[in-house]
Amino acid sequence: MLEKFERYPLTFGPAPIEKLDRLGKHLGDKVEIYAKREDCNSGLAFGGNKLRKLEYIIPEAIASKADTLVSIGGVQSNHTRMVAAVAAKIGMKCLLVQESWVPHEDAVYDRVGNILLSRIMGAEVRLVDGGFDIGIRHSWEQALADVKSRGGTPYAIPAGASVHHYGGLGYVGFAEEVRAQEKQLGFAFDYVVVCTVTGSTQAGMIVGFAKDGRQRNVVGIDASATPAQTKAQVLSIARHTANLVDLGMEIGEDDVVLLEEYAHPCYGIPSEETKEAIRLCARLEGLITDPVYEGKSMQGMVDLIKKGFFPEGSRVLYAHLGGAPAINGYSYTFREG
Ligand code: PLP
Repeated sequence: MLEKFERYPLTFGPAPIEKLDRLGKHLGDKVEIYAKREDCNSGLAFGGNKLRKLEYIIPEAIASKADTLVSIGGVQSNHTRMVAAVAAKIGMKCLLVQESWVPHEDAVYDRVGNILLSRIMGAEVRLVDGGFDIGIRHSWEQALADVKSRGGTPYAIPAGASVHHYGGLGYVGFAEEVRAQEKQLGFAFDYVVVCTVTGSTQAGMIVGFAKDGRQRNVVGIDASATPAQTKAQVLSIARHTANLVDLGMEIGEDDVVLLEEYAHPCYGIPSEETKEAIRLCARLEGLITDPVYEGKSMQGMVDLIKKGFFPEGSRVLYAHLGGAPAINGYSYTFREG
């Protein structure tokens, strides 16, 4: 599906799939749980889902003769860390707008984790006010204008590398990679569980898995706490991406499965249940999930297994999209372990 698109390799190759036996046993062995380790997909600044997306975006940035990648996210954005890493790797400058998406309490929230790594990698980090919003922001347009006024040539990468014409392609590739791995494993996964905020990860998966009719088995766990906006964005990216790859079928609203009940109390703040899920998979599997994204999708998957959402015997693939560096901004949250 992706042969006609140029790809700039930023990942090691297929991300490994591992079985989470102890977590499965703890949950009564009703289903088999596997994790696709997108969090270990690259040597670039701890990796993660954005690199798969950026592999299809960077060729255009290079062809445009830009000299500066410009992007936006929250203070502890994984995405902006990944853009900083890619800019360093390809020899471009990087300007990052970091908005106050999260009402944090940690004293060092804006000095550790993702933002620390971006600073070390040489990105110009601009802290601005502005609450959580996955849409296009004035501060981002201002940053693009500033690069131009200094004589530079910016290349704009939106929040989460999502609302970009090639933003959905990377996770179409994920589905193709999983299909190839399924051949080697000798079985197919019944469900994929994925954390969703800006939408192109799930959108790409929907398109990729639609090829063999599995698009509704991609279970999105909303972590935005603005699910209507996120769902609409997933649908529009999926439709656009389906056209790009000549999927040959319409993606409908019902093809976007997005569960809303795990994002509370708000984006970036973990509930007690999220913290429990983070501890659970850390203690049973040594698998680190973060309070913003994967902790919520892990909580969702565990709860769905307990509730019997997946028929017994199902093979569930948890997409671990990365995000662990942000946990450094949550030392107060885990003061007691
Ligand atoms: N998990 C992690 C670690 C992320 O950084 C993101 C980025 O927003 C997501 C999940 C959600 O992916 P998306 O924004 O493509 O919906």
